[in-house]
Amino acid sequence: MTFRLFRSQRQVLKSALLVMALGAALGGCGNPEPSTTETVAAEPAETFRWKMITTWPKNLPALGTVPERMAERIRLMSNGRLDIRVYGAGELVGAFEVFDAVSSGTAEMGNGASYYWRSKLPIAAIFSTVPFGMTAQEMNGWLHYGGGLALWRELYEPFGLIPMAAGNTGVQMGGWFNREINGIEDLEGLKMRIPGLGGEVLKRIGGLPVTMPGSEVFTSLQTGVIDATEWVGPYNDLAFGLHTVADYYYYPGWHEPGATIESIVNAQAWASLPRDLQVILETAVRHANDDMLAEFTARNAQALQTLIDEHGVDVRPFPDDVLAALQAEAESVVAAMAGDDPLQQRILDSHAAFTASVRRYHEITERAYLNARTED
Ligand code: CA
Repeated sequence: MTFRLFRSQRQVLKSALLVMALGAALGGCGNPEPSTTETVAAEPAETFRWKMITTWPKNLPALGTVPERMAERIRLMSNGRLDIRVYGAGELVGAFEVFDAVSSGTAEMGNGASYYWRSKLPIAAIFSTVPFGMTAQEMNGWLHYGGGLALWRELYEPFGLIPMAAGNTGVQMGGWFNREINGIEDLEGLKMRIPGLGGEVLKRIGGLPVTMPGSEVFTSLQTGVIDATEWVGPYNDLAFGLHTVADYYYYPGWHEPGATIESIVNAQAWASLPRDLQVILETAVRHANDDMLAEFTARNAQALQTLIDEHGVDVRPFPDDVLAALQAEAESVVAAMAGDDPLQQRILDSHAAFTASVRRYHEITERAYLNARTED
């Protein structure tokens, strides 16, 4: 097909040249030799074979499968020139080693959540989720149209990493508990798997937050190493079987109202890519960002129904006074992050300003609408 098209184009060109030459001859202005167009053989395109390491168990619904689909899409869009193999947590490096491994170039790309790097870079948590903070929709607004992504990239630049938003869970569930939560005192001494700033809030209220990768959550709850755990939402929680080792499923996920998932790319590896592959990669990550939220929205709704109808799960709201107490602590946890570092302060200021602005807007749109819809 390509050859035929080319040949027909050449014939058109030859005819045109012939007419021009004839015209020139008739005009007595010489008889130029018709030139021919020759194809210039393209250099064989370079193929890049990359590794993407993740903080997720292999094939974990959405969190693990979206990066796999993203890599496949990149391979197809680049006609195989950017071929990325995805590794689950522990296959090449442990879940919490992803940041360092991509920074050092052990892998060219990583996928996880920025609050996992809290011990190294506490402020990074702002780019995943903040207790009682922004929703997925609001985070996407801040990151892509409110200056958030530029600040995130500035923060990771000294580590030789380029971060991108690569998904969102939406509002998570409050978690699985083997103790009823009737008042704030029921959180005292509670040993709970809860990462990021949510863990810090729980600690301030007297709880004992534990951070552990997803692969250890089920066994830890089953054996009583922890009294409670949050994980994600019905879709992932059902897949983990958490309903078989806990009595109560509380909502809402005040600690993760819209956790942004991150892709990180080694800056040198990124610089080695031709521009078209950079655009393909960035576009695929942006698509994954949308794809994950869509999958979570659809599958969480189905899985919640399954948990209730087929497994008789006891789904309960946290009492209002418990949520109010947690929110008061959340505000002081975020405020306490302010320090002497100017970049850190700019991140906090940008986040706070956008949050305030979008909350005002969403009070009269998202919230007003959802409240109106629930009225019978
Ligand atoms: Ca979670």
